[in-house]
Amino acid sequence: MIDPQSEMSVKNYNISILSGDGIGPEVMDEAIRVLDSVSGKHEFNLTLDNQLVGGIAIDEKSTPLPEETVKSCEESDAILFGSVGGPKWESLPPDQQPERGALLPLRKHFGLFANLRPSLCFPSLVGASPVRTDIIEGGFDVLCVRELTGGIYFGEPKSINEIDGEKTAIDTMVYRESEIERIAHVAFNAAKGRSNKLTSIDKANVLRNGILWRETVEKISQQYPEVTLDHLYVDNAAMQLIRRPKEFDVVLAPNLFGDILSDEMAMIAGSLGMLASASLGESKGDGLYFGMYEPSGGSAPDIAGQGIANPCAQILSASLMLRYSLGLNEAADSIDNAVRRTIDDGFRTGDIFTDEPNTIQVNTSEMGNKIIENLS
Ligand code: NAD
Repeated sequence: MIDPQSEMSVKNYNISILSGDGIGPEVMDEAIRVLDSVSGKHEFNLTLDNQLVGGIAIDEKSTPLPEETVKSCEESDAILFGSVGGPKWESLPPDQQPERGALLPLRKHFGLFANLRPSLCFPSLVGASPVRTDIIEGGFDVLCVRELTGGIYFGEPKSINEIDGEKTAIDTMVYRESEIERIAHVAFNAAKGRSNKLTSIDKANVLRNGILWRETVEKISQQYPEVTLDHLYVDNAAMQLIRRPKEFDVVLAPNLFGDILSDEMAMIAGSLGMLASASLGESKGDGLYFGMYEPSGGSAPDIAGQGIANPCAQILSASLMLRYSLGLNEAADSIDNAVRRTIDDGFRTGDIFTDEPNTIQVNTSEMGNKIIENLS
């Protein structure tokens, strides 16, 4: 039950709920209903603290990330995030816009260095993928683990200057061994909880960064003998992920390569409304992390307010939160299975609805109801 007055014997967790803008609050409502139901069944308690973020925070508090919101997150075990942004705030200066002004500072403040994006294609949704059905028949489940705070996006120097009489752009790719080690631990731990298979991505044939990346991941693999490790150059990985996605399990990549490959995998999976994500900080021990959990998609202003958004990505984000920040794996499995069963039963929101036989189009709250009915 989500009840602050719950009995002492039931373990309690504090969660900051940042629903944000657009479809954020609509899909968050369903995730909270699912969490309420699953916590009752699995005997834990969640104390939820709703806080403003993004455009709505700009409207009400004149900033996309109010201090109270940061304070609530600091006092929480995890952050469940909806989505932010929309046309209303697009003309503001970049640093004051909802995404740039809220998401990036949150990632920085909490040192969220690991981005996990499951690319999940359910067997009954293979038709939604642009990849040929014979390649992905039976669906696939690949977890992309991307290093989020290092590499070429953050390395110094970074400039556009006049050199030898012409404009010259410089970006610098820097990885310290410790940065590679900590993201490798996240990936190996994730692989341990899945099929014990990890593919590490680099460009060791050209980049010094790639050589250190590969050496370091190999070194960390000694601590995880049960996990089978292989390596792919990023150009080959881009091809193999499309050619044989079913053969991958966990894919570990530096920031730039992970950015590109995780979007490629989202596209192969076919439906944005189904894709969750997690951004994790330092380990709290026992393989658990402080983290922020959110759908891979945005605030979808084109359908906001109509009650037709797909709540699955938000609900699966809540499941990732139970798994990676709270260690409640059975409850997380229960949510994942309920979503899978609901899709297999033929229930579809508009974004994943096709005129296949035995499918029924439902709205956001009807989808939430079906998932709750299917919770074990
Ligand atoms: P978007 O992901 O919001 O929408 C892209 C398309 O996918 C739209 O047609 C939308 O209707 C659909 N879609 C997305 N999620 C869906 C869901 N759950 N159910 C059904 N359909 C869904 O991307 P966009 O249109 O490029 O961006 C819209 C706004 O969201 C912008 O202001 C952008 O800055 C913001 N944004 C926020 C985040 C975030 O909060 N993390 C991420 C991306 C974009």
